[in-house]
Amino acid sequence: MDYQSIFAEAIAALHAEKRYRVFADLQRVAGRFPTAIWRSDKGSQEITVWCSNDYLGMGQHPDVVEAMRETALTMGVGAGGTRNISGTNHPLVALEDELADLHDKEAALVFTSGFVSNEAAISTIAKLLPDCAILSDELNHASMIEGVRRSGAQKMIFRHNDLGHLEELLKSLSRVRPKLIVFESVYSMDGDIAPIAQICDLAEKYGAMTYLDEVHAVGMYGPRGGGIAEREGVMDRVDVIEGTLAKAFGALGGYVAASRSIVDAIRSYAPGFIFTTALPPAIAAAATTSIRHLKASSAEREAQQRYAALTKKALLEAGLPVMKSDTHIVPVHVGDANLCKMASDLLLEEHGIYIQPINYPTVPRGQERLRITPTPLHDEVLIAKLAVALTAVWEAIGMPLFAGDAEAVPRKAAAGGNARMAIFPPAGG
Ligand SMILES: *Cc1c(COP(=O)(O)O)cnc(C)c1O
Repeated sequence: MDYQSIFAEAIAALHAEKRYRVFADLQRVAGRFPTAIWRSDKGSQEITVWCSNDYLGMGQHPDVVEAMRETALTMGVGAGGTRNISGTNHPLVALEDELADLHDKEAALVFTSGFVSNEAAISTIAKLLPDCAILSDELNHASMIEGVRRSGAQKMIFRHNDLGHLEELLKSLSRVRPKLIVFESVYSMDGDIAPIAQICDLAEKYGAMTYLDEVHAVGMYGPRGGGIAEREGVMDRVDVIEGTLAKAFGALGGYVAASRSIVDAIRSYAPGFIFTTALPPAIAAAATTSIRHLKASSAEREAQQRYAALTKKALLEAGLPVMKSDTHIVPVHVGDANLCKMASDLLLEEHGIYIQPINYPTVPRGQERLRITPTPLHDEVLIAKLAVALTAVWEAIGMPLFAGDAEAVPRKAAAGGNARMAIFPPAGG
């Protein structure tokens, strides 16, 4: 058996499809966000990162860095084991209190990542509910899909944010059967937002539980950074809120916030929680500092929204196919894997701008795009440079630009057979 060739062929298939992933060798520079150093064959150079999920630059906030440093100096680095074996380091207790308060829930439970929190919590909840049916939005993140799969429960997928379809599926299930609706607030590839209140209405009407992933919203929306559910005043209507400490909070880890009994059940039954070493205390302290800061300060949120709006406007005026987005996420439609990779490479090599290509399976084929995430530190000067660089790249690879008064590309249109195609044929497709 030639094992090596099997792996080599699997990799060759990705190359053939132009979706082999290359990770840029980057080094962030604390205090100079969004600057980073990029190392390549040609040496080292300073570049500007335009696709970080450290959405507010909190990963470099002096207070957050100091909390991590001080905690590492006083408590050391590792957690020393699973919580089952080593107990809970105090900074993790404080972090869970902070998170429960953020979402106005009785309790919260921290995991080693957002991925693990979804995988562990969804699977455990659905396993504990006898004969549970899971209703899952078709665009849910891979970690939620893993949780659904691991639960072994019956899965029903509803069309993205489609309340009519969700209701149709709920109606088809027996009234007495436990049901779990799993969805996200901000969908990070399109930048659109779920109708949370209406989904909660349906959940109430059909007796379902709700599980909401707020990973791309915590820290950034709501008066205290509690997410879209906080902004819309519906946190109390959602049974389980899941979030990450790794994106807007700038650290690492994931969590769920819910009632005491739901959290205690997950704590007691989820292998992905029980059998793995806890987050280091220094990370927990950094995350707590970041959450506390963003609870009290809206300056970062406001600046992020301002620069996201300015970025959308500048790119549209430059004639770039900006896709419609209701959030801080700015997707620019390319529609072809090869061109998307070429655009990303040219931006980095010729313009010192890093925006990674988003290709299948992260988005459907034909919807390849550049996904831009302006932060409070991407100011007018950087935005102007970005517009110039993207325009030059679009011209270099022969993709069309529109007259400068174009509307954003409608979300649906980015899919196959779209309205925009008449004027915007996806080159090479
Ligand atoms: C990134 C992401 C996660 C996973 O969070 P990590 O903390 O990075 O593991 C979960 N859900 C969604 C929607 C995400 O985009």
